Amino acid sequence: MFKLYNSLSRKIEEFKPIKSKKVGLYTCGPTVYDYAHIGNLRAYIFGDILKRVLDYNGYKIQHVMNITDVDDKTIKKSQEEKKPLPQVTEFFTEKFLEDLKDLNILPPDKLVRATSEISGMIEMVKVLLDKGFAYQTKEGDVYFSIAKLPDYGKLANISKQELKTNAEGRLSDADEYDKENIHDFALWRAHDSSDKDVFWESPFGKGRPGWHIECSVMSSKYLGQPFDIHAGGVDLIFPHHTNEIAQSEAANGKPLANYWIHFEHLLVDGKKMAKSAKNFFKLADITDKEFAPLAFRYLLLTTHYRSKVNFTWESLTAAQNALNNLYEQISAFEPAAVGCAEYEQNFLDAINDDLDTPKALAIVWDLVRSDYPGSAKLQSLIKFDQVLGLRIKEVWEEAKAIPESVQKLVKQRETARETKDFAKADELRKKIESNGYLVEDTETGFRLKKKYT
Ligand SMILES: [Zn+2]
Repeated sequence: MFKLYNSLSRKIEEFKPIKSKKVGLYTCGPTVYDYAHIGNLRAYIFGDILKRVLDYNGYKIQHVMNITDVDDKTIKKSQEEKKPLPQVTEFFTEKFLEDLKDLNILPPDKLVRATSEISGMIEMVKVLLDKGFAYQTKEGDVYFSIAKLPDYGKLANISKQELKTNAEGRLSDADEYDKENIHDFALWRAHDSSDKDVFWESPFGKGRPGWHIECSVMSSKYLGQPFDIHAGGVDLIFPHHTNEIAQSEAANGKPLANYWIHFEHLLVDGKKMAKSAKNFFKLADITDKEFAPLAFRYLLLTTHYRSKVNFTWESLTAAQNALNNLYEQISAFEPAAVGCAEYEQNFLDAINDDLDTPKALAIVWDLVRSDYPGSAKLQSLIKFDQVLGLRIKEVWEEAKAIPESVQKLVKQRETARETKDFAKADELRKKIESNGYLVEDTETGFRLKKKYT
């Protein structure tokens, strides 16, 4: 039985898909005006774990992700860089996809750019206006009226009364003064001169869609409504997902998605990441320090997705060491056809219990340290890696491809280094090189690479 914590019911529920073995999954994608930071990447890594666990359970998944390639931030960036908007957004979309690849995150089946779905968004705004859930201001913006929807805020568990209290004294935003309620949100933004050439024609005038409407339109277009699982970072519960639910349910009179899954924040040195606090990192900041992207993935798996994780360079070093150790262990294993049934059952129970990756990793290590033959361990570990995504099979294959004579030299060199006989270590390094391999020392050990030049 696969169980997940559903933010909508605030309970752990048994997962029951709409169609018996097929799952529609929508995860909110990036706004492509900058590189993804490691906090964003946590949500994408756990979106990947969720997808891999579904796959492990035999479901066929249709995964859709949006790319927000038009909004205030992307437009601002294109103006700052004096480049056309698509040039800026395509650049950061590429960089995002590279990050996914480096982190061994499986690509979505459908990656949808918001600007390619504007007509669907215009349609939905029309429906909401026709049904009386939306209104247009004299400036030309179209807003969703939260007063019209009795259960607005149910995902975030906030009432309209609370919203009113919290918003007191905040009605001074000049751009939004003609909204009927401070929490009414834009479905369509009228074109203003600062947007320059970025606009689309619509029955409500020139302009561009609001952010929330994108996901409502793109998810239901490719997955139907309702679909099974909508996931994203915990910061999206309010207002983004709350507003997606509001507009989709108002327009179509049925739920948008059955399960809402949210991934907790990543802290850096115990604090929220902020550019001003100089604790704001992207994946390249990690790899520049010689850490493997998968060490970051490993680190995240050690904490449950519904707990905050604290990123420190020390914890990343520990993760890199653990991963190296795991790779070293598996390198010695021989292939086999039979795994360790008992561990495989425990692993399945862990991941099916609301994606308990810390427990799953503990089972990995229990197995590695167990008395089972290496061949059986390898068989199970390769299976587990369908979920963990640590490239266990590739690493094992690479290790097996290294001739024994070279492996012997590497071991001798390690011993020389441990006894601080650096002259001998250097001599051995040259020998390894003449055998076609490069040995690189890093902060966290060494790496052996095939020499191609
Ligand atoms: Zn979204």
